[in-house]
Amino acid sequence: MTSKKPATLAVRAGINSDKHHGAVIPAIHLSSTYALKGFNEKRQFDYSRTGNPTRSTFGQAIADLEHGAVGIVTSTGMSAVHLLCQLLKTEDTVVIPHDCYGGSYRLFTHLEKRGQFKVIVVDQNDKRALTQALERKPKLVLVESPSNPLLRLVDIEKITKKCHAVGALVAVDNTFLSPLLQQPLLLGADIVFHSTTKYINGHSDVVGGVLVTKEQALGEQLAWWANCIGITGSPFDSYLALRGLKTLPVRMKQHQENANEVAKYLKDHSAIKAVYFPGLTEHPGHEIAKRQQSGFGAMMSFEIKGGIEAVKILFDKLALFTLAQSLGGVESLISHPSTMTHAGMEIEAQIAAGITQSLVRISVGIEDVQDIISDLEQALLASQI
Ligand SMILES: *Cc1c(COP(=O)(O)O)cnc(C)c1O
Repeated sequence: MTSKKPATLAVRAGINSDKHHGAVIPAIHLSSTYALKGFNEKRQFDYSRTGNPTRSTFGQAIADLEHGAVGIVTSTGMSAVHLLCQLLKTEDTVVIPHDCYGGSYRLFTHLEKRGQFKVIVVDQNDKRALTQALERKPKLVLVESPSNPLLRLVDIEKITKKCHAVGALVAVDNTFLSPLLQQPLLLGADIVFHSTTKYINGHSDVVGGVLVTKEQALGEQLAWWANCIGITGSPFDSYLALRGLKTLPVRMKQHQENANEVAKYLKDHSAIKAVYFPGLTEHPGHEIAKRQQSGFGAMMSFEIKGGIEAVKILFDKLALFTLAQSLGGVESLISHPSTMTHAGMEIEAQIAAGITQSLVRISVGIEDVQDIISDLEQALLASQI
């Protein structure tokens, strides 16, 4: 199947796999347990924490899209991140980006405080800092590109080569783009993971995660741990995420078309200090994005003039954007990283990462783009009075 184009893989995932009834869409298997054929004669599945047909179909679909060997479906995006920690011993070092998802930052830094491993937080575009970090021979390097919330880009192929040279594994958080727009394993990474809560499910009604390894052995090791600690995803969530996946190609097209219009509109607006969107030619990561992604995605952030007071008015006046955490659903969302998604980061760490009080992040939905822009227009005007 992997020779097919991503849109085909996404739509066809699991179709025609029902041998009993010929159901076009694979059934949802809620059973927690499976009968043995006889004494000591196991079938493919025996217990749903370990393996479940619905979850397995969804995991394989993402593994195919990411060109990986093993796909492990987890209960949340964070449990996929946590699963990575099973690769680390107390004497090991992990390198994380200074502007990664707030929850990932919180997890790694707090586990370090408990003595589970050592963490180095670096700006991965700062060559000297990265070289110094790699000199400490980390076991694992986490990459997030584009990053959350500032949409910074990291050259995945380049950083992977450097990491492999010191024996480090590279794991990429691909949540912001989905496997449709970026395939980190093809750029050399060892592991790619997603919060399927976002674009993959796409309808803001599932919290879930998935992790894909390039190599079979590493995948089996991590699948063993996922079962051992009991973080595998539920059949119902897997079913919904698989359903969402089928429309990911068309959703992404519309998300991107709308985001492009919104970015063009915001970029010259008198109420805006700066827009962070890799699709803009002036974005510092634009060239890398063009090279390693097959689209610019639909996430962006911007700084509004007038500080926190203007931010409050903006949120209050917007009617079409919902003020909420999360992203990647069909509906447009707006958030304030400093007090919401990145509240788990100490204020000093936020400042170091460039997250200011006037920074606002938007997930551009697939509503009519003229309505989205009109809504921003009236709210931005009100914010500047
Ligand atoms: C949301 C998110 C996560 C965490 O996923 P959950 O499903 O909320 O646990 C990790 N990384 C990124 C980039 C995210 O946006």
